[in-house]
Amino acid sequence: MMRAAFIGLGNMGRPMAAALARAGVETRGFDLNASLVEAAAQEGVAAAGSLREAIEGADVAITMLQSGDQTLAVWREIAPQARGKLLIDCSTIDVESARAAHRLAQESGALSVDAPVSGGVAGAKAATLTFMCGGEAEAFAAARPILEHMGAHVLHCGGAGMGQAAKICNNLMLGATMIATAEAFVLAERLGLSHRALFDAASISSGQSWSLTTYCPVPEMTPASPANNDYRPGFMTALMLKDLRLAQEAAAQAGAASPVGAVATQLYALHQAAGQGGADFSSIIRLIRGE
Ligand code: NAD
Repeated sequence: MMRAAFIGLGNMGRPMAAALARAGVETRGFDLNASLVEAAAQEGVAAAGSLREAIEGADVAITMLQSGDQTLAVWREIAPQARGKLLIDCSTIDVESARAAHRLAQESGALSVDAPVSGGVAGAKAATLTFMCGGEAEAFAAARPILEHMGAHVLHCGGAGMGQAAKICNNLMLGATMIATAEAFVLAERLGLSHRALFDAASISSGQSWSLTTYCPVPEMTPASPANNDYRPGFMTALMLKDLRLAQEAAAQAGAASPVGAVATQLYALHQAAGQGGADFSSIIRLIRGE
C-alpha cells in the first residue's frame, strides 16, 4: 500500500490529507501547529510528532505551506532521507523557489513535482481541485494517481516550476478580470443600467468571463457568488494579493511587461489596507464604488 507524508495541515492541507486517507492511502500528517495534527487525526490522517516521523517510511511527501521559504526549509530537511521518494509541493510559491526545490530533490535522488492548486477550501474538501504540475514526465506520471485522489483535474504544464507559472498566470487573469467586471457594474450603476440588464447582456456577449458568470461581484446574479453572502470567502483578498505579487515578481525577473497586473496589485493592496484582506477578493467592487 502507498504511504504518504503530508506536511502543512492548514486550511487547504488538512482536507487534502483527509481526502488522501479516505482514498485508502496510508497518510501521516505533520504541522508545526499541534492542534491541526490532532484535528487531522480525527479525519483519518495519522498524527506525526515531527517532520522526520512523518516522512519515515513514506513513498511520497506532500507539502502544503504558505511560502517559498517554508517549502525550501522543509524540503532541505527532508532531502537527506528523500532518495527514491517522490516530493510534491502543492503550495503557491514563486517560480524561482519552486525551481530551487526541484534542484534539491534532484541532488538527493528524489523525483519532484510542483503542483499548486485551484479550487480553494471547498475544492479541497470535495476533492475536486485542479492541480497544475511542473516537473519531469516520470515524476508527473508518479504524482498523477496520488493527486487524482484529491482533485478532478491534474494537468502537466511543463518542466520544473511550470505548475507555479500556470497558476500565477491564471490568477493574474482572474484578478484583473474581476476588477474590470466590478468597474463595469459600478459604471452601470452610475448610468442607471440595472445589474440584471448588464449581466444578461454581457454574459452572452464578449464581456463574458468566469468573474461574471460564476463569481459575479454583485449579488443575486450567480448562485456561487460570495457577493450573495456579504463577500465571505471564497478566495480572500490577501491570497489574491499574494498571487498577484508573485506574478509581478515573475514578470520582472522574466522581463515581461505586466502593466494591468501592476495596477491590479496596487488596487488589491489598497483594499487590504482598508481592512478587506479577509473578505472575498470580489469585494474589490467596494473599493471601486468608493465605499
Ligand atoms: P495555511 O496558513 O492555513 O496553512 C499552512 C500550514 O503550514 C500552517 O498550518 C502552518 O502551521 C504550516 N507550516 C508552516 N511551516 C511548517 C513547517 N516547517 N512544518 C510543518 N508545517 C508548517 O494556508 P492555506 O490556506 O492552507 O494555503 C496553503 C497554500 O495553498 C498557500 O501557498 C496558498 O497560497 C495556497 N492556496 C490556498 C488557497 C485557499 O483558498 N486557502 C487556494 C489555493 C491555493
